[in-house]
Amino acid sequence: MAEKVAVITGGSGFLGSHLCDKLIENDIKVVCVDNLLTGSIKNIEHLFGNEKFSFIKHDVTNFIHVPGNVDFVLHFASPASPIDYLKLPIQTLKVGSLGTHKALGLAKDKGARFLLASTSEVYGDPEIHPQKEEYWGNVNPIGPRGVYDEAKRFAEAITMAYHRYHGVDTKIVRIFNTYGPRMRLNDGRALPAFVSQALNGEDITIFGDGSQTRSFCFVSDLVEGIYRLLLSEENEPINIGNPSELTIKEFAEEVIDLTNSESKLTFLELPIDDPKVRQPDITKAKEKLGWEPKIGRREGLKITIDYFKSVLNK
Ligand code: NAD
Repeated sequence: MAEKVAVITGGSGFLGSHLCDKLIENDIKVVCVDNLLTGSIKNIEHLFGNEKFSFIKHDVTNFIHVPGNVDFVLHFASPASPIDYLKLPIQTLKVGSLGTHKALGLAKDKGARFLLASTSEVYGDPEIHPQKEEYWGNVNPIGPRGVYDEAKRFAEAITMAYHRYHGVDTKIVRIFNTYGPRMRLNDGRALPAFVSQALNGEDITIFGDGSQTRSFCFVSDLVEGIYRLLLSEENEPINIGNPSELTIKEFAEEVIDLTNSESKLTFLELPIDDPKVRQPDITKAKEKLGWEPKIGRREGLKITIDYFKSVLNK
């Protein structure tokens, strides 16, 4: 049988690099296309020299050329943490719109399956809880976070248009907060911020009163769900995330406990349009993909804390 080939845009980022590993483990050749805007060669350097892996430094908002056959295109390129997309608003809008268009064009040209990395942020500050795929969301298009949320909503729309009008076999995964090794300590998300503050014995800064909720999924669980979706016949969006929900204050206390830290909590003003609650309804992923998360938060956090310790010690 001919070797399968996948193109992963954003493949040197946090999630993209774990996906590169997953596909290569499953004997799929990977072409990673990334302009290193927010990603790092460090995330993929262990793959250089592997004959199943190649890297093209390229901005995917421009025409993407990959020689030879391609079976899968996975579009993961996009600034993803609030610090990044608030600093890079135009690039975020461009990679969600022009970048998705170019990645879809590649899939259409090659007759490849296409998978879009969408986000729970398409639900905005949700009025229903937990969030089901059928919910259309509550997004402020002109607020600072709109650059990310609306780029992803456009990306979903153009993906469905390519599916309906060009017959491309497309998949959409709505990813909920994911954590694990290769996250950046300073990416502005609560989890790496809390862990680094706890490890450094600094005060843990909570935005608002800490009553807002989040649900964190360990990266290996997410990647397994995405892999199953890629091989499935499903074309409608699917939530992948861990439904175990807790308040940000409870989460900060858990991090203090797991790191044996003396850190105290301090409270800052809540950013504009920060979602008050976030929890995936994963009924559809269970039914269609036979998927559910396996790694509990304490177990996943221990692995991630060890990773952050190793980074801090370097
Ligand atoms: P990341 O910043 O680590 O990775 C994104 C990658 O995209 C980086 O390597 C960056 O260099 C690359 N990139 C950005 N613009 C590009 C461009 N124009 N051309 C080529 N490459 C470009 O972020 P991540 O956390 O790994 O997120 C990956 C994807 O998953 C994103 O699309 C994000 O929206 C989505 N997502 C992530 C989460 C999460 O919890 N991490 C949650 C929801 C959705």
